[in-house]
Amino acid sequence: TCSSAIVGRFAPSPTGPLHLGSIIAAVASYLTAKQSPQGRWLVRIDDLDQPRTVPGASATILDHLQRLGLHHDGPVMYQSQRHERYQEVLTQLTKQGWTYSCSCSRKEILASAPHQGEEGPIYPGTCLYSQPPFGRPTSCRVQTRDELIRFTDLIQGTFTQNLRHDVGDFVLQRNDGIFAYQLATVIDDHDSGVNLVVRGRDLLTSTPRQIYLLQCLNWSIPRYAHIPLAMAEDGHKISKRHQQRSPCDLYSPQQLLCFVLTFLGLDPPQTLVNASVEALVQWGIDHFSFYRIPTNNRALDEFFNP
Ligand code: GLU
Repeated sequence: TCSSAIVGRFAPSPTGPLHLGSIIAAVASYLTAKQSPQGRWLVRIDDLDQPRTVPGASATILDHLQRLGLHHDGPVMYQSQRHERYQEVLTQLTKQGWTYSCSCSRKEILASAPHQGEEGPIYPGTCLYSQPPFGRPTSCRVQTRDELIRFTDLIQGTFTQNLRHDVGDFVLQRNDGIFAYQLATVIDDHDSGVNLVVRGRDLLTSTPRQIYLLQCLNWSIPRYAHIPLAMAEDGHKISKRHQQRSPCDLYSPQQLLCFVLTFLGLDPPQTLVNASVEALVQWGIDHFSFYRIPTNNRALDEFFNP
């Protein structure tokens, strides 16, 4: 309901320092949470995929957030410490009959998948119809349905997807035991009471999968706001590849905050560049609105001139 306080969150993956795209997501989620009286802003480190985790990256990220004046409420949640909880929920989904084991290799799926979806090959359900051979490592998939999942994004508007046709039965736990992001994020957001998910538009097409899992679990569905992406000059999503050094090392927190506010469709007065970080963040809280955010992705060099 409108009267309940917003619980927002920022969930970086510790594969390197923050890049501009993640700073934009951090600021936007912070401002929306803090606009709400008693709003809370949580931070979670998405370190599920241990092999991809860079030592020291999460400490750097947390330090940069402090310097940007984005102070989290409550303790930081680490996905690497929540395996038991993920297993518990996966067991529940399995008991309810939503999941099945799959022993198909990537190669086999590529060879047998008749359709290529936006998210890769659409799994044809081979192992749903025939028991996987004994002795091969198995992943765990969730059965999808041939029906539309629809939600209204606070920035992007109505978005619909038919999981059966557009995505296929997706993986909840990989055959090496690593839990899938789709499952973990749903459980974490639910357990921490998150009711507004603000993140980059690259995750828009993941949202129907997350809503579907929430429906299977009979959990409430948060609201979503997917921010357009800041694209590198070559038209690709900004990633660590484009930024060997973190923008946090290259620019002052004030410069970065002014840039992000501009990206979010606001017009911070020039005098604020010399103001304190706290004053800038407060100006953002006072002026931020989803309605001002342009919906399309934009090239960075269009307006980033610190
Ligand atoms: N850890 C994810 C990422 O960095 C974001 C997860 C989310 O916001 O749901 O892309």
